Amino acid sequence: MGEMPVVGLVGLGLGGLVVGAFLNVVIVRLPDGDSLLGPSRCPECETPIRRRDAIPVLSWILLRGRCRSCGEPIPAGYPLVELANAVLWVGAGLRFGPSWALVPMLVLVSTLLAQSVIDLELYRLLDKITFPVLGASVVLIAAASALEGDPTRVGMAVLGGVAYGAFLGVPAFVMPRGMGLGDVKLALLLGLFLGWLHPVLILFSLIIACGLGIVVGLLVLVARRGKSEPFPFGPWLALGCVLALLFSDPLLDSYLIDIPAWL
Ligand SMILES: [Zn+2]
Repeated sequence: MGEMPVVGLVGLGLGGLVVGAFLNVVIVRLPDGDSLLGPSRCPECETPIRRRDAIPVLSWILLRGRCRSCGEPIPAGYPLVELANAVLWVGAGLRFGPSWALVPMLVLVSTLLAQSVIDLELYRLLDKITFPVLGASVVLIAAASALEGDPTRVGMAVLGGVAYGAFLGVPAFVMPRGMGLGDVKLALLLGLFLGWLHPVLILFSLIIACGLGIVVGLLVLVARRGKSEPFPFGPWLALGCVLALLFSDPLLDSYLIDIPAWL
């Protein structure tokens, strides 16, 4: 694995912004089954957004967060998703360098960002995102492994996916109110990537997810003055996975675990 040149990181940042704008379209339209094609519209007055007002982040700042037609505020969530996706892509570029492994990693982090926002807003994870990405990821991971001359490595990924899915499947069946099946299906995808690098990362990722989920869950409970409301676990599973992947070098080094140089 070589180091990503600065020009590559800049490219990933800009590409991440553009794909982040597409993620906003997915987040707004896919839960309702709306088509992903056609121009975006103002959430308030439904005027189509003109192309020069659709530059990621920049347009929102230039318009001071308001629609050009009706002047109503456009939620800061839109530029935040674009920025977050750019940060995730640059982070993946720093960790994986200019390698074949980077391609499926970019798909994963963008998928997890979109699913997390949808889960925070609607308390559900969409099968119509999880399943196609799961299938595509197996193909991309198999291809990346083969191109790096290590074709059987895809087996570790598949085992990781099955292991993480089964591990979360047990509590989901014992206490269906605590963990949704959407989380279990998401774990298939997370385990695929974690197992590809090393199965122990599944454990690290789950520890990070539970730690973050419990701390934030308690804070939310205090903020709502004890009123119990649904609390999505998907975003914490996703964040735990992304952190375990991006910081896999120091995590695995500290346990003297070697992984192939290309991962
Ligand atoms: Zn408007």
